[in-house]
Amino acid sequence: MRITVIGRSPAWQDANGACSGYLVESGETKVLVDCGNGVFGKLRGQLDHREINAVVISHPHGDHILDLFPFAYALIYGPPRTAGKPILYMPPGGMEVLRTIAGSFDKETLIEDAFDTIEYVPDEGVTVGDIAIEMAEVPHFTRAYAMAISTSAQAKFVYGADCGVSDALVALARGADVLMVEATLPAGLPADPQAESGHLTPVQAGQIAHDAGVGRLVLTHASDVLDLEGSRQAAAAVFAGPVEMSAQGSSWDL
Ligand SMILES: [Zn+2]
Ligand SMILES: [Zn+2]
Repeated sequence: MRITVIGRSPAWQDANGACSGYLVESGETKVLVDCGNGVFGKLRGQLDHREINAVVISHPHGDHILDLFPFAYALIYGPPRTAGKPILYMPPGGMEVLRTIAGSFDKETLIEDAFDTIEYVPDEGVTVGDIAIEMAEVPHFTRAYAMAISTSAQAKFVYGADCGVSDALVALARGADVLMVEATLPAGLPADPQAESGHLTPVQAGQIAHDAGVGRLVLTHASDVLDLEGSRQAAAAVFAGPVEMSAQGSSWDL
């Protein structure tokens, strides 16, 4: 299984960057996890977008869904895809968000015209080829789902979506080879576990990695306006394993 960062930015893109989008490949199976603004062009820099078998969305915030719209236009008006429509897996209630946005520019069925759409049942997860995705709801400002992604080769990659402090994420991430978790908040912010927040500081992200006993921690969803090396060091102070900050185009083979 190979994981590639297509986009890593939070609500607005880094300079020359893209918002959330991660490519998961296992053999011929290619899954895009999240499709935020800027992701579609970066994806096309990696592969022919028609090779994507499925897109799986963690939650319907703009920085995780907005490039579904250019992706849909490319599928409808661009060179045809031979294997029928790719599948779009949305969280429960997510299709209504997409219809509302597309309807505002008079194309309410745009997404359904381009993708076979399914609102996933979180407890059942999603399977695409030999890629299996287990979901866990995590605290955020809307319903959001972290994903444990694995293959028959036993490799386990966990993506935390956008989340606050979460025992559910610790449980989902237990024993993961790589945990990619957001560190949206600055390192200097006091980490108050009682604070009701939908995002993590780097220290909180590191604590989740420590508690889950993961092999490697990758921080992401942290803007380039922050001190990213400072964030990495703050997480490394509480998690003993390797810690890195995600970068556009970086990849891991599990
Ligand atoms: Zn986000
Ligand atoms: Zn969000």
